[in-house]
Amino acid sequence: MKIIRDPGRLNRLLKALSRSGKSIGFVPTMGALHPGHLSLIKQARRDNDTVVVSIFINPAQFGPKEDLNKYPRPLKNDLALCRKARVDLVFLPDSEIMYPEGFCTFVHVEKLANILCGATRPGHFRGVATVVAKLLNIVVPSVLYLGQKDAQQAVIIRRMVSDLNFPVKVKVMPTVREKSGLAMSSRNAYLSEQERGNALVLFRALNLAKVLIRGGAKDTVRIISRVKQLINKHKNVKIDYIAVMDSMNLKPLKRVTGNCLVALAVYIGKTRLIDNILI
Ligand code: AMP
Repeated sequence: MKIIRDPGRLNRLLKALSRSGKSIGFVPTMGALHPGHLSLIKQARRDNDTVVVSIFINPAQFGPKEDLNKYPRPLKNDLALCRKARVDLVFLPDSEIMYPEGFCTFVHVEKLANILCGATRPGHFRGVATVVAKLLNIVVPSVLYLGQKDAQQAVIIRRMVSDLNFPVKVKVMPTVREKSGLAMSSRNAYLSEQERGNALVLFRALNLAKVLIRGGAKDTVRIISRVKQLINKHKNVKIDYIAVMDSMNLKPLKRVTGNCLVALAVYIGKTRLIDNILI
């Protein structure tokens, strides 16, 4: 496994591989790898000749009051996990090389970036879209692997790839959960034991929505209100948003008539967790 810090070097290496007909699967991450990330890497390994994983805690997607400095950085363990998963190349750039002095070009995926998580985290998806655009230009992968865990991110990146003609296929992999149902997330590390217990409410809330919808409930105001009631029974839990949407374009639905995406963001103490379910 090669560890490469220089974008130019990685680009030259990967272009040579592409020219020789090798397919490249790419998994962008912020590190603190867990089984959710590993499921994307495993799929990339199954599908491609070469697997590239980037580990980059992208400052552009953190707000000034967010957790950039305390975001977990277990690099040694991450590299060991990549090696075990038979990753070929790890891209490990530093912030100065990704955002050199004078950097001022950003990708803004209008409409989709300011709603839901983007409403609470202004600029977050501008940072995400910009770094993914940069990474796609550096890696030029055949397939980009994303997780359904970050549903809005996946919709935004698909939109950007289509709108800006990035020559890459996007594969979105299902959310990997702990046995309890809690969606795996690097941010779960912030939770105390008691908060971990409270965090189970996210999955329970999504399951309640599923049961209601499968049972024939259509009115999304009523569905959301039932889900809110369930969450509000817990102390130290604060709802950011609950939404029932079209999974392709994130448009809120008044009535559920077919497939839909139910997504929510909830503060467990100070930690903001997101989760979603496709129904
Ligand atoms: P992150 O390191 O949080 O930026 O995540 C990197 C990629 O892993 C993103 O495409 C995420 O959606 C995906 N991911 C994170 N957690 C999970 C999970 N529990 N299941 C599936 N994919 C995940």
